[in-house]
Amino acid sequence: MTGTPFKVGDRITLKKKHPCGGFDWEVYRIGADIRMKCLTCERRLMLSRRDAERRTVSREEAGKTNFEQ
Ligand SMILES: [Zn+2]
Repeated sequence: MTGTPFKVGDRITLKKKHPCGGFDWEVYRIGADIRMKCLTCERRLMLSRRDAERRTVSREEAGKTNFEQ
């Protein structure tokens, strides 16, 4: 598993359910850490790249539904 290239706007599904019941997140910022927003409750989460890669079960690339960047 080498360097999943997360991009701003990606929709990702995490292994573990958020307390709100949601599984889907949207990446909104990438730096030393990956920052994502829960699509269900809009709470934010910050994970290291390694954690983000480990916890992601599926990823839908940015650009399918919006073109903000
Ligand atoms: Zn949530």
